[in-house]
Amino acid sequence: MFILYVLVFIFGTIIGSFLNAVIYRVPRNESIVYPPSHCANCQHELKPYDLIPIVSYIVLRGKCRYCGNRISIRYPIVELLTGLIYLILFVYFGISIKSLSYAFLASLLIVISFIDMEHKIIPNKIILIGLIVGASFRLITINYGVWDYIVGFLVGGGVLLLISLLSGGGMGGGDIKLMAMIGLFVGWKLTVSTLFLAVVLGAIGGVALILFKIKTRKDYIPFGPYISIGCVISILYGYDLLNLYIKLIRG
Ligand SMILES: [Zn+2]
Repeated sequence: MFILYVLVFIFGTIIGSFLNAVIYRVPRNESIVYPPSHCANCQHELKPYDLIPIVSYIVLRGKCRYCGNRISIRYPIVELLTGLIYLILFVYFGISIKSLSYAFLASLLIVISFIDMEHKIIPNKIILIGLIVGASFRLITINYGVWDYIVGFLVGGGVLLLISLLSGGGMGGGDIKLMAMIGLFVGWKLTVSTLFLAVVLGAIGGVALILFKIKTRKDYIPFGPYISIGCVISILYGYDLLNLYIKLIRG
């Protein structure tokens, strides 16, 4: 079993390496398949031994082998994060359609979070891929019900759209589309849990960022990463949290 865990983690880091390319290229409107991986500074094409997830970054001490330019710490972070999330999903859900769909969703959330933090946008292209793949998973698992997810799609997008309308555009269009997409993957209950956690984490995070003077009150604070963290926590603990909440309000 241990060897299987190691393999799932390594597989996750390789996917993470691909996600890095997506994070870099999609906001720059570059193709994600061509040209092959190259240094963003000297354009030198990277060899397979430059592209080993996490390991290459450590061996090269975070610098390009060819021009010595610093490589963003984002690369090993995304690889490690993807590996860990894949491993956790595998431990929780085994080899199943569910873990496959959650792994796909988590990959999209990683891409969206890092793009939102750097560029302050959530690309429509990524959302569109999510909607298509999410709908495909619903067709594959149609025997287990589809309404739960359609309601999730409507609740996720609807609640944020309502907040946006009431607050006069306080919520970004990308966040609304992201929540709708998540609903299609996790169903309405976990969508509610995701919304709740995102708001709580966003409030804590926003205050912390301003207190530590990383951001000012006027700065845009991306909400995508909070939605993403809330969603991953919900996938793992959402039902426990909802049960706890119901117990609390019933006294
Ligand atoms: Zn270089």
